[in-house]
Amino acid sequence: MKTIIIGGSTTGMGVAAKLKRLDEKHEIIVIQDKEYVSLGACGIPYYVGRNFDNPETLIARKVENFEETGIRVLTKKSAHKIDFKNKVINFEDENISYDNLVIAVGAKPITPPIKNIDANNIFTVNSKEDAIVIINAITDQSKVLVIGSGLIGLEMVENIKHATKANIAIIEKADRVLKNLFDEEFSKLVEEEIKNKNIDLYKENEIVEFIKDANNNVCGAKTIKSEIINCDIVILSIGVLPNTKFLKNTELELENNGAIKINEYCETNIPNVYAGGDCCSSLSYLYKNNRTFYLATVANKQAKIIANNINKTKTSKFVGALGTTIIRFFDLELARSGENKMFIETNKIETKEILIKDKDHTNYVKDQTDLWLKIIMDIETKEIINVQMIGKNKSVLRIYGLVGIIWARTKVDEALEQIDLPYSPPFSRTTDIIHIALSKLI
Ligand SMILES: Cc1cc2nc3c(=O)[nH]c(=O)nc-3n(C[C@H](O)[C@H](O)[C@H](O)COP(=O)(O)OP(=O)(O)OC[C@H]3O[C@@H](n4cnc5c(N)ncnc54)[C@H](O)[C@@H]3O)c2cc1C
Repeated sequence: MKTIIIGGSTTGMGVAAKLKRLDEKHEIIVIQDKEYVSLGACGIPYYVGRNFDNPETLIARKVENFEETGIRVLTKKSAHKIDFKNKVINFEDENISYDNLVIAVGAKPITPPIKNIDANNIFTVNSKEDAIVIINAITDQSKVLVIGSGLIGLEMVENIKHATKANIAIIEKADRVLKNLFDEEFSKLVEEEIKNKNIDLYKENEIVEFIKDANNNVCGAKTIKSEIINCDIVILSIGVLPNTKFLKNTELELENNGAIKINEYCETNIPNVYAGGDCCSSLSYLYKNNRTFYLATVANKQAKIIANNINKTKTSKFVGALGTTIIRFFDLELARSGENKMFIETNKIETKEILIKDKDHTNYVKDQTDLWLKIIMDIETKEIINVQMIGKNKSVLRIYGLVGIIWARTKVDEALEQIDLPYSPPFSRTTDIIHIALSKLI
């Protein structure tokens, strides 16, 4: 049996490693466009924040480590053309045949067609190379403009601020930050933190043109409201899209956003062709709709499922994801899970929601701080379909318990209200914020 994997990172190398463990004799070839594999992209902002000095730390496992186990890795080789009928990948210099194919090409940052976007010092945040050029470009004197206030944009802001004295501004098209993930009350608290850190925030605004100097370096950005924001570094973090341009107009079924359609076994519409991770649309856990999650947690699980199913057809199913996310933004910590407001409203799901502001632990133990929790319940099923938290002192780690409740589809009733949560003065109060919220929901 011979399996070819296109894309050598979380999903691709996850499939390769697991498949080799399951069947030592399985011939595995990975085609990877970079010279390295297994990039831990999640670490990029923290490298820029100088949490560690060596960018190689971003690489979880080296090409040699995989090759030692008998996996062949073809680096700096990009797959552009697949002959699905004859099960062959065509390169200019050679053709490679396969029995099974895994497409794990991930997603790439959106670079909008803004005038002068090709100027120097306009960066995306996606690869080891991006991380290195960003860290080398930013100095204490830099004027950094971060475009987009999603998770990656905010992580970059926090880390640049920690590591340098650079001046930072954020521009966001929506009317508030983190709009896709959190409700208004939470965005407001994050925006207060942005202000406290002396970071300028432009909302309901967008860049229409970059201004560059005689050396082709960016020196400003013009907004749709005709303001000029002075900047010499731009971080583009307005989202990503599946890296599937080369698969358009082939037999492979894609969603409108270019994501590969897969079933619960991570099979595509073409026999023996599997796909997983950021290049796919995947099942949401609660309402079984399809969406692209762009999360390492999803890619990781799908890698195992693909390997299992290649080894023995249809043995593992992907049961869905909740889009559970956690982020630190300076002193604030935020966590969320489940369907967002846009989904709830579009699908006209009747809900009851409760927002509680409480304290994270007892008043007589130092560092007591505010903790916010929102729970949204589907009135028909009595199941929790969304939770959001913001706090400090790692108090939002309560999300782990809440995700367990959602995952088990536990009904919100008197029994759940008595859920046996722990109490000790440095951690919580006798009646925890979760108890208060559940009580109010009932
Ligand atoms: C800055 C940043 C921070 C993040 N933080 C988090 C986080 O905190 N938590 C979380 O859960 N997720 C996070 N993510 C998302 C997470 O990194 C991705 O969900 C995960 O890497 C997806 O894995 P993948 O294998 O599907 O894609 P990728 O990791 O993108 O791997 C795809 C690989 O395929 C290669 N490739 C593409 N096209 C071709 C081709 N035609 N031929 C050959 N090779 C090709 C690419 O170069 C790449 O190496 C973050 C992402 C970024 C960028």
